[in-house]
Amino acid sequence: MYDGPITTPRQRAQMVFRFLREPYIWPGGYQQHAATENYDTFCHQCVSDKAIRHQLIHSPFSKDRIACLDVHWEGPAIQCVQCNAEIEAVYGDPWAENDRRCW
Ligand SMILES: [Zn+2]
Repeated sequence: MYDGPITTPRQRAQMVFRFLREPYIWPGGYQQHAATENYDTFCHQCVSDKAIRHQLIHSPFSKDRIACLDVHWEGPAIQCVQCNAEIEAVYGDPWAENDRRCW
């Protein structure tokens, strides 16, 4: 049975602490967020919270554990599941009505 990416608590802790050290990827300086296997997204501020960090690393439910660090490249803003902070796409939302483009 597939149970998501196989990560150890140590690997998850490394991911969480890398995110805390580097909220923005380099090169590019794009904002990262943490994603669980459910693809719940968490902003940097929430991952700074000790209880949330603990859940992301040690939750008994694999779907609630951190699965990757990601960048929201394009599309409508997504929200942090914890605080509802909006995470804007790097390239914006091409389908938004007020997004003016030259074509
Ligand atoms: Zn948040």
